[in-house]
Amino acid sequence: MISVSDALDHLFALANPLGSEEIPLIDAAGRVMVAPVRARRDQPPFAASAMDGYGTIDPTVGQKLEVIGEAAAGHRFDGEVTPGTCIRIFTGAPVPENITHVTIQENVTRDGDHITINDLGTGDNIRPAGGDFKDGQTISSPRRLTANDVALLAAMNIPTVTVARQPKVALISTGDELVMPGENPGPDQIIASNTFGLHAMLRNLGAMPRLLPIARDNEPSLRAVFDLVDDADLVITIGGASVGDHDLVAKVAGDLGMERAFYKVAMRPGKPLMSGRLGDAMMMGLPGNPVSAMVCGHVFVAPVVRAMQGLGHQPALRYSAQLAAPLVSNGPREHYMRADVTPEGLTAFERQDSSLLSVLGASNALLVRAPHDPPRSVGEKVDYIPL
Ligand code: AMP
Ligand code: MG
Repeated sequence: MISVSDALDHLFALANPLGSEEIPLIDAAGRVMVAPVRARRDQPPFAASAMDGYGTIDPTVGQKLEVIGEAAAGHRFDGEVTPGTCIRIFTGAPVPENITHVTIQENVTRDGDHITINDLGTGDNIRPAGGDFKDGQTISSPRRLTANDVALLAAMNIPTVTVARQPKVALISTGDELVMPGENPGPDQIIASNTFGLHAMLRNLGAMPRLLPIARDNEPSLRAVFDLVDDADLVITIGGASVGDHDLVAKVAGDLGMERAFYKVAMRPGKPLMSGRLGDAMMMGLPGNPVSAMVCGHVFVAPVVRAMQGLGHQPALRYSAQLAAPLVSNGPREHYMRADVTPEGLTAFERQDSSLLSVLGASNALLVRAPHDPPRSVGEKVDYIPL
């Protein structure tokens, strides 16, 4: 058996970064930008009013000023503001050069063409030119683009971005007992859940997953499904990966030319795991137990998919929190316990069997325990992977 971190190193060695493509900004959220970009203008491009009010020159309390014009967003005031005068001004409007303050409308009394200043308020309410960003300012890469990033790129006048190609992932369930959700299962059958969970996870990671038909527990069926892999960058099989009589994935993948990189990882849940190159694709064989498959998704598949998108070789992000309930000592394998994290701390669920999707569904954290971790008491800090 090898450690989780050795297994990840093997996987990263097999995960080739994919090429890039240029896409419209409107489609860029969630994609990984792989080339840096430069702002094409200053923002704001002119000193801009931050409030609705009156553009004034060195205002004082009690001062009476004549209103000689107006500046609105998109419409600057072209005249000259001289001492004793002011202009009506609105949020986003260019501020004329000799205006020193935007006095908010709540702080003046208006009477016809004149205002009287009642209060100076705080600050000048003027946003300086380039105060947000300057022409040429860069956003570095690689970076998975968030909604906030897309807003910033749009403001920088960047209409297209260069992003990593989306990994194409073929998902294969194996087992005579499996039917698809919505079908009528026979008395000895269950519903294939793992491929659906992993499909959802892969979408969130920016990949393009595809469900292949369920492979039955015989070599011709598994071979026929492998034939449908097509141009996938990553092939993920689920189940059939341990040492039972019906566990054929290693045999069939081997016959198809896969050089197996490793087989068993010292972790709970999810011990049987294999990987290798299969033609142009990388292959990962995950365990069949539903929680094992999903935990392996978080611990192994997600970092691999990120590496393929150019985000480097990073294990799943970990945080730490205090324990809200004690833990007994851990066994020889790294344990990813289904847990609940709240402001009061982390609590591992009592039932940790690797078949319990209801417990995984109620969890928002995987509490990570090192092999042979001693008993832990309330208040001790432990690591967790947020779900
Ligand atoms: P296996 O690794 O094929 O021996 O499967 C281990 C356990 O996981 C068995 O109880 C299977 O029925 C179950 N299992 C395998 N594949 C899936 C799947 N795609 N969805 C749900 N359960 C599965
Ligand atoms: Mg099976």
